[in-house]
Amino acid sequence: MSLVQTTVVTGTGDSIIAVAMKLPTDPAENLAALIRCPSVTPTEGGALSALETMLKPLGFAVDRPTFSEDGTPDVENLYARRSGNGPHLMFAGHTDVVPIGDEAAWKHPPFSAAIDNGEMYGRGAVDMKGGIACFIAAVARHVEAHGGPKGSISLLITGDEEGPSINGTVKLLEWAASRGEKWDASLVGEPTNPDALGDMIKIGRRGSISATITVNGRQGHAAYPHLADNPVRGLMTLVDALLNPVFDKGTKDFQPSNLEVTTFDVGNPATNVIPAKATASFNIRFNDSWTAETLQAEIHNRLDKASGRKKYRKGRKEPVEFELVWRDRPSHVFLTRNDKLIDALAGSIKRVTGRKPKLSTTGGTSDARFIKDYCPVVEFGLVGKTMHMVDERVPLAELEQLTQVYQQFLADWFG
Ligand SMILES: [Zn+2]
Repeated sequence: MSLVQTTVVTGTGDSIIAVAMKLPTDPAENLAALIRCPSVTPTEGGALSALETMLKPLGFAVDRPTFSEDGTPDVENLYARRSGNGPHLMFAGHTDVVPIGDEAAWKHPPFSAAIDNGEMYGRGAVDMKGGIACFIAAVARHVEAHGGPKGSISLLITGDEEGPSINGTVKLLEWAASRGEKWDASLVGEPTNPDALGDMIKIGRRGSISATITVNGRQGHAAYPHLADNPVRGLMTLVDALLNPVFDKGTKDFQPSNLEVTTFDVGNPATNVIPAKATASFNIRFNDSWTAETLQAEIHNRLDKASGRKKYRKGRKEPVEFELVWRDRPSHVFLTRNDKLIDALAGSIKRVTGRKPKLSTTGGTSDARFIKDYCPVVEFGLVGKTMHMVDERVPLAELEQLTQVYQQFLADWFG
């Protein structure tokens, strides 16, 4: 913890008391306070209150809007801003965590923040209370040393990232923007490093779309297939057309787009009955040679063309009769091209860790896909190895290193 820095004067009349306050410069102490809050989505669990306690002495104005939507739990979120003259940097993240799984399997209780052999244990240690703890420590050190950066810093923290993500970042961004908030850049503190701190910055994300295909056939006796129409043959015909040929070979910044068939269901308990219906679902992670719309058009086109193929349906005159339903909302692909932001972050990482980070677009989607509609966004946090696992934990040395990276980044980006 830091030297005594801020003095808050309270009291009424002639009894004035000067209270010395400690600034939250120690990332391990910040993280322990957050881990001790059992904030499994959608529960706030005290985590946002803990953040507020850290941010107020640093001069942040804190708001905690709750968002609702029919059919989903209400979720509390936090937006904090420290205003200054200059550019505006937003740090984004979430304090909600995934469930603990089998508590008995944990070496230390998952909400205890126990330290063992130089590592802090707890749900959320790396995903991503650790990233938030380090960023706040970095800001606190900057405030302590220089009185804070020449510009504005805000924290956009949701409690709905690991859940349905409906009452979280999307609404919080809209809420803040409607109050006139504008940002020049955003840093998301999700764990981005596969093995060691400094391995990887995420500068974009693939898009994602999902759908279910249902093929209607005609039920019958397996010994008299000419009297029936086996929908499994039809579904195989369609799925084959989705898998071949591949969508693309990848682009300069992205790996090849990929389709995975995630279910193939008939639900038929009898081996001598041709079923009436078969369904399959698939998910596609796609790169910047597509948009969700062009890829959906490609899928429709492939299915329409394939429906007349005979490979698995010899002697059938009629085309495969199918229905395609798109699931969820598509996630759009994006790539950040902002040299000031990327160079400041990559340079800070190199200086602190000695590593030159890979600029990557791999992995799943993240809340960065919503932020990119407001300002350029990059992602850099802890090493992700133990996220969502039993015994999620982070080395204290890594917390210190990430704090130093963020500190350097604040100095360089605000210049
Ligand atoms: Zn996360």
